[in-house]
Amino acid sequence: MTRLDPQYRIVFDDTHSSRPVHLDATADIAKMEEEIARISPEDALGFRRFMEENRAKMQAFKSTMESPFSGWGDVLTPSMLGLLPHLNPHLDLDSYLKRFFKDPRVRTAFCFQSKYLGMSPFRCPSLFSILSFLEYEYGVFHPTGGCASVTTALANLARSLGVEICLNEAVTGMNFEKSRVTGVTTAQKHYRADAVVMNADFARGIQRFVPNALRPRWTDEKLTQKKFSCSTLMLYLGLDGTFPGLSHHTIRIASNYEENLREIDSHQDPGMDPSFYIQNACNTDSTLAPPGKSTLYLLAPVSNQLAGTDWKTEAPRMRKLLLEKAAALGFEDLPQRIEFEKILTPDDWETEHEIHLGATFNLAHTLPQMLHLRPQNRFQGIPGLYLTGGGTHPGSGLPVIFESARITTRLLLEDLA
Ligand SMILES: Cc1cc2nc3c(=O)[nH]c(=O)nc-3n(C[C@H](O)[C@H](O)[C@H](O)COP(=O)(O)OP(=O)(O)OC[C@H]3O[C@@H](n4cnc5c(N)ncnc54)[C@H](O)[C@@H]3O)c2cc1C
Repeated sequence: MTRLDPQYRIVFDDTHSSRPVHLDATADIAKMEEEIARISPEDALGFRRFMEENRAKMQAFKSTMESPFSGWGDVLTPSMLGLLPHLNPHLDLDSYLKRFFKDPRVRTAFCFQSKYLGMSPFRCPSLFSILSFLEYEYGVFHPTGGCASVTTALANLARSLGVEICLNEAVTGMNFEKSRVTGVTTAQKHYRADAVVMNADFARGIQRFVPNALRPRWTDEKLTQKKFSCSTLMLYLGLDGTFPGLSHHTIRIASNYEENLREIDSHQDPGMDPSFYIQNACNTDSTLAPPGKSTLYLLAPVSNQLAGTDWKTEAPRMRKLLLEKAAALGFEDLPQRIEFEKILTPDDWETEHEIHLGATFNLAHTLPQMLHLRPQNRFQGIPGLYLTGGGTHPGSGLPVIFESARITTRLLLEDLA
């Protein structure tokens, strides 16, 4: 793991100014105060206050992240009551940050992280200020070989403990005796099991594998009423040449950020001024491309499939737009340098990757879809069925998903002991 400093560069596009303003986020407190002061001097002092308050919030929230929630009984506990003063359920994330930062650009630097959950900071519960806090408290790291190397390392560890992992063998059915799950079926064979842990996208997996009658809280009809996250448009590029001097992570914030997010939330087609992210990891990690070559990926949050966007026409338009906007960030001549490219649209997430509505961050993290109100790790009503992944507690995003695996593992150990 390589620690990144600066952690990322945020570029605020400003149609009124010829030179966009940027902020290089760093966990070095004094340096970060200087960075904030460059944009808004009066906001610099808010940084330490933000860190102190969110340290206490994180401490109060930790046990919630690490425990299963199976009903109100788990909500009305002393540790949850300790969390109450930090919850501010009436405040969205951006409004909460007004307590610390006046300048909307500074607030954006501390709330764009809600997009890791696929949510707008103008709608996301204020509790999620802990996301940016965690970055400054513990740092931002790049795993050599990319995020997949973390999963590979876990798989190797599991194998060393005797786990057999069958790849390229999709589950095609789940088997039941009355309401108990008894195993799964693949193209190769039937597997009998004392317990089945489902990691597939929740809405897709549950609708495909579990009969409607066995899941009264999560029927097909009820799922249509639930809120789902946004999706992403991805450009994965293999390029001739490298981009030395440009940040590992660059986040470009559109000049009308709030409007851009409102479009996404209200299921509109992407506009002309998207916010997006570029990963330029080759500067940190030479394993990702041959010498003299590099990889980039561009991610633009877009509406999920409820927008009904025609991606056959929108994908080429967005590709052109993103490449032009990337040039303005210093990633020049991309069209001439591309040797490999893959585009993923919400349609591809849905069909190639089996994600309901192409909602890459799963069920939205609104308060009525959190804690015991989210599909539970020990799935209710179906003995033997457990969940892990973004569709269960605590929620979406890699660190949290690993936590869901830990919670589910503990439940399995209790139940199978
Ligand atoms: C472009 C993008 C960028 C992101 N960036 C970040 C980030 O910076 N930070 C962060 O914290 N989070 C990020 N996320 C979110 C995070 O990556 C996801 O929330 C997380 O990977 C989802 O994990 P999961 O276990 O729920 O699902 P997945 O990782 O999708 O795992 C589900 C697995 O189930 C398999 N599967 C599905 N159906 C079947 C079947 N029938 N049989 C067998 N296997 C099946 C799939 O192949 C897949 O491997 C990002 C997500 C996307 C899409």
